[in-house]
Amino acid sequence: MHIIVIGAGIIGMTSAYYLAKKGHRVTVVDANAGPGLATSNANGAQLSYSFVAPLAEPAVLPKLPVWLFDAESPLSFRLRADPQQWSWAMAFLAACRRKTSQKTTEELLALGLYSKQMVHQLIADEMLQFNFSNCGKLLVYQDPGSYESARKQMDYQASLGSVQVALDRNGCLELEPALRGIQDRIAGGIFTRSEDAGDCQALCLELERTLRGGAAKVDFVYDTQVLRVQHKGARVVGLETPAGDMTADAYVIANGIGAQTLARQVGFNPHIYPLKGYSLTYQLTEKSEAPLVSVSDVHNKVVYARLGNHLRVAGMVDIGENSSQISPRRIASLKLAVGHYLPALRPAGEPQAWAGLRPARPDSKPLIGQTALQNLWINAGHGALGFTLAAGSAALLADRLSGDPPKLSNTLFEPLRRTQ
Ligand SMILES: Cc1cc2nc3c(=O)[nH]c(=O)nc-3n(C[C@H](O)[C@H](O)[C@H](O)COP(=O)(O)OP(=O)(O)OC[C@H]3O[C@@H](n4cnc5c(N)ncnc54)[C@H](O)[C@@H]3O)c2cc1C
Repeated sequence: MHIIVIGAGIIGMTSAYYLAKKGHRVTVVDANAGPGLATSNANGAQLSYSFVAPLAEPAVLPKLPVWLFDAESPLSFRLRADPQQWSWAMAFLAACRRKTSQKTTEELLALGLYSKQMVHQLIADEMLQFNFSNCGKLLVYQDPGSYESARKQMDYQASLGSVQVALDRNGCLELEPALRGIQDRIAGGIFTRSEDAGDCQALCLELERTLRGGAAKVDFVYDTQVLRVQHKGARVVGLETPAGDMTADAYVIANGIGAQTLARQVGFNPHIYPLKGYSLTYQLTEKSEAPLVSVSDVHNKVVYARLGNHLRVAGMVDIGENSSQISPRRIASLKLAVGHYLPALRPAGEPQAWAGLRPARPDSKPLIGQTALQNLWINAGHGALGFTLAAGSAALLADRLSGDPPKLSNTLFEPLRRTQ
């Protein structure tokens, strides 16, 4: 079968890989000049398979007033005259029920653990170089109450298969000496050995190299925006682009935030909304004291990942900011947080600043499967976890599209097959 994958971010590139592995002829089309240039470009670099709890959970409800009125909080909400934002926000609130969020955590955990297995296999099979490391992830708590809650959550996650350990202040410092600048503020930490880190854009480039050189034929069409999905009845008949129409037997919408526009054209609403975030990439020197394990500063909601001789720092969730333009104010506050957390970082010069739009669904669950149209498939809406969940999502999509029995439950993450 000839399949066109729309989008060359991490979701589109992994989808192309697993579809080509099944023997399909694949064409990847992207509006940008190469792979991984949108949200997959400079994200937090965490492959955190065990930290998949949705953003929508009961604990966020009391925090809503702060988000609404404090533009400096790590999560900010800007109300817009936009019905899509309102319906997304209503669905988000509905997903905050304890039962819903626990069920979502279980489902995402299953996809996370499957993704881990698939990405490890992928690295071994193709010998991919993307600054991957099995560094483990340390969540650092400054508030004793939050640390106690995290220990309880650890027990719950243990029942679902996660292996984690609770560390006191000394345990945290022993594991990660770069934290000594904040030692007086550490209440404790939760360490998960199984978590990895890597450069998401470098993985996109490595996948492109592998797919261009492999036995399976994959073509890449860049600088080409898909303007419209053309359909007749229940079938897609082509894609309209400025360079002319493109046709295939089947089509996969895997274009991140752009999936909302294309899916709406065929009467399907994936409820994907942008959640803006920022990152800083510091070049390290021999004098730098930078963490080797992935560290999450729970208090400020900032993550730190080591990528060779660079340190990637990411954070902020801005709801209602729909462009990836960089706000100097948000970058300044992220830099300030880094300065307080790692006073001995001593990087080489100023960090590289970046902003990206997480393609988020209200319940944090991606859509992976067939849409209401027979030959139109979707793999999108991975929100804050697209890098982590990419390999498992793509393998699941390839199984479903090829009619093979999927390794996860038959219905998990499937879109509703009716137009909305
Ligand atoms: C600050 C920040 C930190 C993050 N940290 C992490 C992390 O640590 N771990 C993690 O797992 N996830 C993280 N994420 C989330 C992760 O980056 C995303 O979930 C993931 O990159 C989404 O991948 P994607 O392929 O769906 O979208 P994208 O990477 O945005 O790719 C979509 C592609 O589609 C193309 N496109 C769009 N519309 C069209 C069209 N009409 N025609 C043709 N092409 C089109 C775009 O050019 C783009 O290349 C983070 C995100 C942010 C913003």
